[in-house]
Amino acid sequence: MEAVLNRPPADPAARGAASAAIPLRPRLPEWLKVQLPTSSAFTRTRTLLEDLKLHTVCESAKCPNHWECWSKGTATFMIAGDRCTRACRFCAVDTSKPLPLEADEPQRVAEATRRMGLRHVVITAVARDDLADGGAEHFQKTIAAVRALNPGIIIEVLVPDFLDKEWAIDLVLAAKPQIYNHNLETVRRLTPSVRHRATYDRSLSVLAKAKERSGGSLHTKSGLMLGLGEQRDEVLQAMRDLRAAKCDILTLGQYLQPTLQHLPVTEFVKPAVFADLKERAEEMGFIHVASGPLVRSSYHADEFSPASAS
Ligand code: SF4
Repeated sequence: MEAVLNRPPADPAARGAASAAIPLRPRLPEWLKVQLPTSSAFTRTRTLLEDLKLHTVCESAKCPNHWECWSKGTATFMIAGDRCTRACRFCAVDTSKPLPLEADEPQRVAEATRRMGLRHVVITAVARDDLADGGAEHFQKTIAAVRALNPGIIIEVLVPDFLDKEWAIDLVLAAKPQIYNHNLETVRRLTPSVRHRATYDRSLSVLAKAKERSGGSLHTKSGLMLGLGEQRDEVLQAMRDLRAAKCDILTLGQYLQPTLQHLPVTEFVKPAVFADLKERAEEMGFIHVASGPLVRSSYHADEFSPASAS
């Protein structure tokens, strides 16, 4: 198999010796270095979010684009609390017993969207496996509140798998988001070690169901992280699997280890590799592809417009 990565994995024996010593995070290559904020817009965004007591995945997941996005006055809202019921080994979001849902949160998200003047909003949530519907109804209420206060807005949801329950997916679809995003995250072989409470096929099924059950009225979207040890042909197969599930939009970005307790980065994938994969994805029929080291599910999400794609 041809490696996606630009360096072969370290010799396992050498890696074992290194892990016995104090673990160190590798130095970031130039293409992953980000600028700190220089404008007051970053502080305005933070103050607004604090005032409305909202969580964002930007902060909770330690996103490297936090400075850039907030300085541009955008953010990705994370609803249903900041405690996740899963413990995916790539994700920085806290895993602990969740608190009850807050009934006024949908309205606060709607108000933040209005104050920020967003024309395209991305709403995600922690996985709430403690709730029968996985938090689907809370998504529905949030979408409805956002639309009521922000007419004409494009609403993108980045949802958990809801354990593939059709009725839970339907609850979200009933609110008619324009973009239904659910991340595959990694290739089939690595899924059990990267997100042990999820399955590769369940995620594909969720995407296929959302497309089918919406009557094709929405765009589906998914993303993969690179740098976890995947091979090029495995990435290409994952892309083909997503197209077979009729996924429309693809994001590819570099995995970054949020803390030393999370999975290590096996490689920093070069920008040229991301560019090549973008071409391959477009050849496969994805209608929009964002591929680059700093790309995340919601990074520059407004660059895709459902109106221009239909
Ligand atoms: S890329 Fe998404 S999660 Fe990251 S800072 Fe930007 S809006 Fe937030």
